[in-house]
Amino acid sequence: MKTGGRADGRRGGEAERRRGGRAVGETTSPATRGKTTAALKRKSSSRNRSARPPVRPSALLSDLKQLYPDAKCALVYRNAFELLCATILSAQCTDARVNMVTPVLFARYPTPFELAQADPADVEEIIKSTGFFRNKTKSLLGMAQALVADYGGEVPRTMEELRKLPGVGRKTANVVLGNAFDLNEGVTVDTHVGRLSRLLGLSAEEDPVKVEQELMGLFPQEEWALLSHLLIFHGRQVCIARRPRCSDCVLSRVCPSSLV
Ligand code: SF4
Repeated sequence: MKTGGRADGRRGGEAERRRGGRAVGETTSPATRGKTTAALKRKSSSRNRSARPPVRPSALLSDLKQLYPDAKCALVYRNAFELLCATILSAQCTDARVNMVTPVLFARYPTPFELAQADPADVEEIIKSTGFFRNKTKSLLGMAQALVADYGGEVPRTMEELRKLPGVGRKTANVVLGNAFDLNEGVTVDTHVGRLSRLLGLSAEEDPVKVEQELMGLFPQEEWALLSHLLIFHGRQVCIARRPRCSDCVLSRVCPSSLV
């Protein structure tokens, strides 16, 4: 999702300068720049951490809910099977791109029964633009065949059963359980959720499974699916990777990574 127009170039340079980097047009030697940037980042980071109170999960949720009252899954689907297909396709691909190919895929293969018998070459052609299309085709067909063979063509409702399906990991299972079935089994941790969790001081972990465990300990279970949507919305619209809009961010008062 793209955000509205603003002077990103100017602010990007300003933010970079605050972090100890350089604005466009400034020159330093790569060696000096690397050392200086790392040192100032550490300095800025420790100053901000000590000056700000820790992020309170309840206040964070409240702020983000107010900001994004319509936060929800960006994938377009009509049932659990379609969401499962769309989530498999979304690996290493934008939701917008997935939403472009799924109308054709779902029209051609509306249920697991049709998809289980699909010609792989046909599915590959339909989903090609989402990347990794050969592996994704194998996952889609394997998943559909397993649904037909083991679950009567229905999508199962437990983490354990979902994770046994080809191409389905914990993240995909969380998306399906939380959005198609309103079951908060875990927190979906994608790149936005992982990145924001670290920036906000909610987790220091890089491993999505460890980040998820920490988030599950901090937030009420009934909020887990929504929490993921809220962080993803914020990551797309304000806390943008490599150019966070801290001066426009409602969390800047409490965020330990704020540049303002
Ligand atoms: S203050 Fe900046 S780094 Fe922190 S969440 Fe907001 S945009 Fe991201």
